[in-house]
Amino acid sequence: MSRIFSGIQPSGELHLGNYLGAVKNWIQLQGQHPTIICIVDYHAIITVPYDPDVLRARRREMAVSLLAAGIDPEVATLYVQSAVREHTELQWILNTITPLGELERQTQFKDKASRQESVNAGLLNYPVLQAADILLYRADLVPVGEDQLQHLELSRVVARRWNAMYGRGEDYFPEPQPLLTPTRRIMGLDGQAKMSKSLGNTIALLESRDEIWAKLRPAVTDPARVRRTDPGHPEVCNIYTLHKAFSAPDAVKQVYEQCTSAGWGCVDCKKVLLDAMDGELVPIRRRAEELRAQPARVDEVLAAGASACRAIAQQTMADVRERMGLD
Ligand code: SF4
Repeated sequence: MSRIFSGIQPSGELHLGNYLGAVKNWIQLQGQHPTIICIVDYHAIITVPYDPDVLRARRREMAVSLLAAGIDPEVATLYVQSAVREHTELQWILNTITPLGELERQTQFKDKASRQESVNAGLLNYPVLQAADILLYRADLVPVGEDQLQHLELSRVVARRWNAMYGRGEDYFPEPQPLLTPTRRIMGLDGQAKMSKSLGNTIALLESRDEIWAKLRPAVTDPARVRRTDPGHPEVCNIYTLHKAFSAPDAVKQVYEQCTSAGWGCVDCKKVLLDAMDGELVPIRRRAEELRAQPARVDEVLAAGASACRAIAQQTMADVRERMGLD
């Protein structure tokens, strides 16, 4: 059966963009395929200076958020990347066969490098670590958003090259296929850019109702609704996108009708959204509180996940070393 691999950066709590754009999809997939979810701390140390204690705390908080959201350790494998050292060993090996031009062409590299005075080699080689993450488990499927397709294509190029050079006529590494995430990208509360912690336009999954309302109330809506009596255009409004994610189909229909007829003002519409969000988020917040009260339980899940992944990774590296004369 096809194996799925996906990673998420330990940025602390999940926000709604991660949850709706990635994690809910993993929760759907986890019962259908062997699924590995990796908290990618090696990726998180590349671009900005960080405090080691904060990184440790964020890793744990991300594990709590994922488990509370519905990642089920009975059917999915959840672990922290640095607990499986083979990721970096395979990355070094893949570095030796990755064309520099391919790395320099990566849009995310060009974008991030253009915003930094000094660019470290890790930023350039980041996609090679991603390729190593995926190939280490010989994963067939990688759930991605469209902005990650170029990196995944690089993983496919690297897999093909390694197979041609060392595969002995066999496709040892499957070329990983994208599983495009069904939810289109979630915009931030400013309505300007994708929801992202670094842009400060997020709602965290575990925020309280009051904290969410304080962010939702001033959130940008359809600019055409200048007066309360102006009819709106739900399709251009981020609040409507969130309704489609959290509200029942009948309620979404009602939002559309009330918006286009100016029956509701935007604050009314946001209050309805807040109630709908509560229906899904209150049980998640409750589970997170329970998990935070049992840190040993979270450690146990991560240790079991790392142990299962290490067994696969060690076998892959034994095969790779043997085929490359490194054993
Ligand atoms: Fe957006 Fe709702 Fe306002 Fe319409 S009524 S513009 S959907 S917030």
